[in-house]
Amino acid sequence: MMRIKLLATPAIIILLFSLGFSLRRHPAHPPIENTSIWQNYEQYKEPAIQHRMVKHADMQPLITKHVSSGLLRSSVIGSSVQGRDIHHLIAGEGKIKVLLWSQMHGDESTATMAMFDIFNFLAAKDDNDRFRQLLKEKLELHFVPMVNPDGAEVWKRRNAMDIDINRDARSLTTPEARLLMKVADDIKPRFGFNLHDQNILYSVGSSAKPATISFLAPAYNHTREMNEVRQDAARLIVVMNHTLQKLIPDQVAKYSDAHEPRGFGDTFQKKGISTVLIESGGYQKDTQKQYIRKLNFYALLSALHAIASNGYENENVEEYFAIPDNGRSLFNLVVRNAEINNENLRYRTSLGINYSTTVNVSERRFNYRGVIEELGDMQNNYGYDEVDAGSLVSLPGKVITMTKTEWEKLSLESEAQLLKQGYLYIRFSDQRSPTGPLQNRLLNLVNGASTGARPPGLYQYPNFILAPPEGRPKYAVVNGFLVDLSKEIRPLPNTYGY
Ligand SMILES: [Zn+2]
Repeated sequence: MMRIKLLATPAIIILLFSLGFSLRRHPAHPPIENTSIWQNYEQYKEPAIQHRMVKHADMQPLITKHVSSGLLRSSVIGSSVQGRDIHHLIAGEGKIKVLLWSQMHGDESTATMAMFDIFNFLAAKDDNDRFRQLLKEKLELHFVPMVNPDGAEVWKRRNAMDIDINRDARSLTTPEARLLMKVADDIKPRFGFNLHDQNILYSVGSSAKPATISFLAPAYNHTREMNEVRQDAARLIVVMNHTLQKLIPDQVAKYSDAHEPRGFGDTFQKKGISTVLIESGGYQKDTQKQYIRKLNFYALLSALHAIASNGYENENVEEYFAIPDNGRSLFNLVVRNAEINNENLRYRTSLGINYSTTVNVSERRFNYRGVIEELGDMQNNYGYDEVDAGSLVSLPGKVITMTKTEWEKLSLESEAQLLKQGYLYIRFSDQRSPTGPLQNRLLNLVNGASTGARPPGLYQYPNFILAPPEGRPKYAVVNGFLVDLSKEIRPLPNTYGY
């Protein structure tokens, strides 16, 4: 008997220990990874929002839909400078208040799209009912989507007064900032989510990976101290980081925590609202940010679940500090070992090409213009696209002359054939050609005589051919876009009329 007891005691201790451990890891409410929410996303994705240039008018029917279904309580809390309604939407009947707001920068819409996916998720009935019921029972969710509708209308960061709303939390000069502050002061949320987009050229530390999502638990003072309020924000970030690492390994970073007393995140943290900043960055081949939208949807739900189930409380704040910082190692395109042949100088070096973006608001279209922004040693830089031109020579593109009518009738296949012969430009024989972005094309248009003859150089427009010595062109770089001439050739986002 004694002998058995001696043996049993450690066994019981181990059993209790492992039970406790598994309870911690698998609480009564299973984590989001044990649900089918990711797999079922297409059922929740709001089909009315397809383009990331989402506007205020797009939201109205969707809000109406969710108010009439009974999911959301909605009130118009005021209006923007130009008179657009700003909505405060509430879901759930729980005790813990959470405030989420998006797009205070008008050209940062990824989380706005995700919010409407979250509404559809909350409104659905399926095998994830237990998950959504927990959120609705424990949380009172307050959403302010698109804090800056005037900026969104013309796709710009600032509001119609040209003030950055996220630098207006202290002065409260803009009506939009005053409204957001009033919501927070009225409801006194326990948690806040400040939802933004960042430059897609941010990398995870000095790595080649884009910072697809960057987090921050904003500092409430210049010495960047941690208190319970900020630690809880950091713990929520640890939860979301665990969730995201399984989907986008090593593509999560941490935003700079320099204290910004004019920012909402910093100000709310100081007020005692545990506030998380989420910055949506870039992801390979996701110019419309639809995959990042899905990641936002999923990460936000994982955080809300952690709040509702108290799952975040066990997380280790040190894991937050271990997330790599945002870096700037990325370019849109890196051409390694490019040959520069500039009058008497001939050398090989690397080129870093980035795109500046302009917006056609009425057509909801982005236009790009490539520029060579770096030239030199780029061993510690990486591109979303990369090519090693070490065995190739760089050639200026040739110019072909035709009438405007001939150009209009030119098929994509014919343009591809011209590209393969080393042509990068078309000049009209009968009139001046249009300038600016050109849609559904492979070749640029040119009026002046000199364009096209220049070798690749710093701050020049990146248009050149890469070919083996004495061989047929292998790659073309057109307006900064890399075209592999051995593969199927598709129209470029846009070429350019010079
Ligand atoms: Zn922003």
